[in-house]
Formats: sequence, structure tokens, C-alpha cells
Amino acid sequence: MRILVLGSGAREHAIITALLAEGGHEITAAPGNAGIAAEVETVRLDIKSPELVAELAVDGGFELVVIGPEAPLVAGVADELERVGVPVFGPTKAAARIEGSKSFAKEVMARAGVPTGTDTTASTLDDVRAALDASAPPWVLKADGLAAGKGVIVTDDRAAAEAHAEAFLPDGPLLIEEYLAGPEVSLFVLTDGTDVVPLAPAQDFKRLGNGDSGPNTGGMGAYSPLPWLAERFGSEQAFVDEVVETVALPTIRTMAEAGTPFRGLLYCGLIVTDAGVKVIEFNARFGDPETQVVLPRIESGFADALLAAANGSLASAAPLEWRDSAAVAVVLASEGYPGDPITGRPIHGVDEAERLEGVRVLHAATGAGEQGLTATGGRVLNVVGTGATLAEARERAYAGLAAISLEGGQARTDIGAKA
Ligand code: ATP
Repeated sequence: MRILVLGSGAREHAIITALLAEGGHEITAAPGNAGIAAEVETVRLDIKSPELVAELAVDGGFELVVIGPEAPLVAGVADELERVGVPVFGPTKAAARIEGSKSFAKEVMARAGVPTGTDTTASTLDDVRAALDASAPPWVLKADGLAAGKGVIVTDDRAAAEAHAEAFLPDGPLLIEEYLAGPEVSLFVLTDGTDVVPLAPAQDFKRLGNGDSGPNTGGMGAYSPLPWLAERFGSEQAFVDEVVETVALPTIRTMAEAGTPFRGLLYCGLIVTDAGVKVIEFNARFGDPETQVVLPRIESGFADALLAAANGSLASAAPLEWRDSAAVAVVLASEGYPGDPITGRPIHGVDEAERLEGVRVLHAATGAGEQGLTATGGRVLNVVGTGATLAEARERAYAGLAAISLEGGQARTDIGAKA
């Protein structure tokens, strides 16, 4: 299959790696990164431009376009690809609102009967104060729109909650949500707007420091499978079935009934509470870094499933085959991240790391120059270890990381440790 993958992160590198491992595909990435460019053809392109993407897709004779990040979705790239008749894995702009607007997501969940925390909407500081008065800490305050992960605060500190509200109220109303206690799980679901195919659950680590300390980040690591989840639900499959029945299918049906069918990847952000599994957020695309640990576990059928989701034939697609394996991804970030990262520093040892058994290095913010590989942003690369068990996968990921050097580089040492 001729496939165009849009994006430039480790998530897209993971998608491309999975497609290449399957074999038989011709892949182009736009814009890609240094790691992706070493493996497939890359094209420099403004991927937020629906017209430019559609032109490339048509002229290049692509049979499928896979959209990685949210920005092109929000810009309507999938709508334009649908209009020109190129199969696209990724929802329309209207359907992507399930990620872009938290109040829209809450409305869909209410209509679909999906379990989630209660919430109130506040448009003024007085409303916020009243909502805080009416509930006990910890408080969860969320800006309604996309805020690159910075719009959410979970805090016991009343002053911090009010300061957050003051900072975000000028951009629109805030959601004050019931605090849900329990471990977080991400479940990806492929869908063609009617049927769904769940992938394997994963857990990511959002805080910068060990033991979930320090500031929130885009994600510092992930692992899959989740042995504790299988223990709690009897099996991983039992958990997945429950989420499909209570969350994914009702949401997909409700989106279709509303005239905004959702095709692509529905990312279910979940908390396993004592009162059952509840949704804390939906995303409209593959999660980063969970993708990096879920996709290596797929044995076959990935490209066909993506195409079937794109053209509405998921019910008749061959089932995905899974490996009985585990994966752990550790993110290496630049000094200064998640604030202002120091960029331009050389990265050494990537080839050495990749020579180790069960180790893959997925690039995120890297550039290739005369001096070799350099860091060009905050989250620089992911070292992914795969193995028969989580312990083996973890050992391999950290052995790979140890082979790599980046001055001032930051990485957590406890990814997947508790599991
Ligand atoms: P992302 O960066 O993943 O897109 P986001 O900005 O969309 O995040 P959420 O995922 O809704 O925000 O929230 C960020 C984090 O805050 C969650 O991963 C979770 O740890 C915590 N959180 C969010 N909602 C709740 C809740 N109701 N109860 C407890 N913790 C919550």
C-alpha cells in the first residue's frame, strides 16, 4: 500500500516502524524528522494546510493518509482528503471536537451514557469560587479548548486553583470536574464510524520526575501490557471489552447520530476508580508516548485495519494479530524541558543503542547535520525496549538509554517499575 504519514514525532516514527515491520508498503512522511528520514522518503510540507496535503496525496497516488497529530485534524485536513477521495485515517474537523472541546466531549458522554466525573461550567471567577466552595479538594479545573496540556490543573491549593482560573477565563469558560481517584489507563480504539477495533491498553507517565513528581509534560514514558489491570479485571480482555461496551461504542454511535461520524482513532483516557472505569478525556488521534509501546505488540494486520477504518469496512477486515510481548518506552528530553529546552546539543550513541537486542530508538525532536545528530526540541527521542516480559522490556529500554548521551538530558528511571 502507498501510505502517507503526517507528523514529525516519535508517535509517527512508531507508526512508520510498525508499517515497515509489516512489509509490503511504500511509505512517505511529511514532514518527518531525522530518524524517519533515515528510513523512508520525507517531504517538507505545511501539514496544517488541507489543500497542500490533498494535492500531495492525489499527485503522489497515495492509497491511505494517516494523520498523526491533532493540529491537521483541527485544520480540516481529513475533510479535504475525503472531498478529493483519498482514504484518510483521522476524523473530520467536526468530529475532532471531541478532543478540541472538553465541554463538547462532556455533552457527547452525557448523551451516550458514558461513565465520567460530574462537572460544572464556570464563566466568571465568581462561578469558579462558588464551584470550589461546593466541592472538596483536590480540585480539577480544565480550560475548555486545546491548551497543549497546560489547561488542566489538579490541586489541593485553593489559591492555585483560583490563579489557574484567572489565567484561563479570558479564553472562555472552565470546567470544574469531580476528582477521580485511581490509576490511569489509555485505550486506543480504531473506528470507521460504526464498528470499533480496540488496541492494547497502555499507561503513560505525565510528570517530569520519578515517582510522578515535578511538572506535567507531554509524557515521559509508557508501558504495555498492564499486569495489574489483568489481575483486577480477570484478564486484559475483560477490561477492554468493558471499555468497548460502556465507552467506545456508545460514543461512536452518539457521534454518528449527531451527524458527525468519528473515523480514525478514539483515544479513551480512563481512570479505574473503585466505582468502575470512568473517562477523563477523549483524544482524536494516537497518544504519544503510548503508541510507541502499543504498536510493537501488533504482529500483523495494522495497515489493513487503518485502511478499513478509513473506508468504512472495519467489520469485514481481518482481525489484528498480537504478539505475546511487552514494551517499555523511556523518553529522553532536553535540559530545560518542559520549560524552554536547550537545543542544538549533539546526541551520541543512538547506533550503539539500536544494536542491542530488543531496542529501538524512535526520534522526536532530532536533526541530522554535519556534526551528526542534534537535539532540536524538548522531547528528543524515545528508547523502546521490547521483550517477553515487562521486566525484560524495561531492562532493554534502560540499557538502550544508557548507551545514549545528551548533555543535560532528562529521563525518568522508574518507567514501568511498579508494574
Ligand atoms: P493531554 O495533555 O493528555 O491532552 P489534557 O490537557 O487534555 O491532557 P486531561 O488529560 O483531561 O488534560 O488531564 C490531564 C491530567 O490531569 C490527566 O492525565 C490526569 O492525570 C489528571 N486529571 C484530569 N482529569 C481528572 C479527574 N477528573 N480526576 C483526577 N485527575 C484528573
